[in-house]
Amino acid sequence: MAAKYLKKENLVSWLQTLAKERLTLVPRREGDAVVFRPFAPGQDIPLDQQATTPPKAAVFPQCEPLLAFKYAKDPENPGKVGVQVKEKLGDTPSVVVGCRPCDARGFLTFDRVYDSDRASDLNYLTRRRNTLFATLACDEPASTCFCNWVGSGPADAEGSDILMVPVEGGFVLEPVTEAGEKLMEQAPLEDAGDKAALAEAVKENAAKALGEAPDLSQAREKLLSLFDNMDFWEGVSAKCISCGACTYLCPTCYCFNITDEQSGAEGVRLRTWDNCMSYLFTMEASGHNPRPTKAHRLKNRVGHKFSYYPDIHDGHIACCGCGRCIKSCPSSVDIRQIVLQAIAASAASE
Ligand code: SF4
Ligand code: SF4
Repeated sequence: MAAKYLKKENLVSWLQTLAKERLTLVPRREGDAVVFRPFAPGQDIPLDQQATTPPKAAVFPQCEPLLAFKYAKDPENPGKVGVQVKEKLGDTPSVVVGCRPCDARGFLTFDRVYDSDRASDLNYLTRRRNTLFATLACDEPASTCFCNWVGSGPADAEGSDILMVPVEGGFVLEPVTEAGEKLMEQAPLEDAGDKAALAEAVKENAAKALGEAPDLSQAREKLLSLFDNMDFWEGVSAKCISCGACTYLCPTCYCFNITDEQSGAEGVRLRTWDNCMSYLFTMEASGHNPRPTKAHRLKNRVGHKFSYYPDIHDGHIACCGCGRCIKSCPSSVDIRQIVLQAIAASAASE
């Protein structure tokens, strides 16, 4: 299918059609924040700004039941108690409409971890395969955006099923996957005509607005060479208050904790997002904590994304450049500056 044009006034009717078959998540304003919520007719859909939170929870909920369990006596052998386990899989067909290219691409960081030869996470995979992304290309990147530093761009379609490019009066829709094509068949579309050229101009201008990306090819080894330089890490983490906002808002942070909630003989096993910027994240049962200070924790956060993860995943950086950790940090810690300072610092010490 070629690119098509969707008039702005037809967006809601498309969403209504999608919502009949799929959980349809769209941006919604809640207080000062823009978050992804199920589409409801008559509500404002703020597409003109990057959402405060990414749509990470659509595939990796903040807290999800992985399984239910129940202890029961063996009727043949009443002295013995067995456990029955029932997996809980989120298999509702879903679509996220209006997230940004960096948001959809963020899931590729998850895929390399949870859908690999070494580990295959059934709960993650079930939601992942049931969730589609109709992504909105960025026409005006924010000052905090740096997707082009990490091999992406404001109209990157990798990880999306449809790329929607905003043009005057509506959107040019480009199918990326077969599933995306099928979603487009449900939209009241028109031939793109001269809007296709407008869409190309939007993409070009947005890419230009981001400016030139610095060369991060040395980041992996430079960060590693600073591993024991705690003066450096204490300096760059001095402002951090360990609030964890950067990890909770990050489309590529995939750490979790597991807890069992039990009442009587029945219970549920929950997976909940965890936060490596918290003191308790690495606290061991012995009382020893291998990351006792915020300097150790920020070193891990930056090092993981720009050095340790790329080291075991063919050079892929575990950051999609969305800039949310910069925008929402109460202390103005800027991950871009830390990476650049690391490259410069280790160069100076060579
Ligand atoms: S958001 Fe900022 S202050 Fe909070 S933990 Fe992250 S770097 Fe530290
Ligand atoms: S580290 Fe920051 S810029 Fe990178 S993906 Fe996470 S929130 Fe976005």
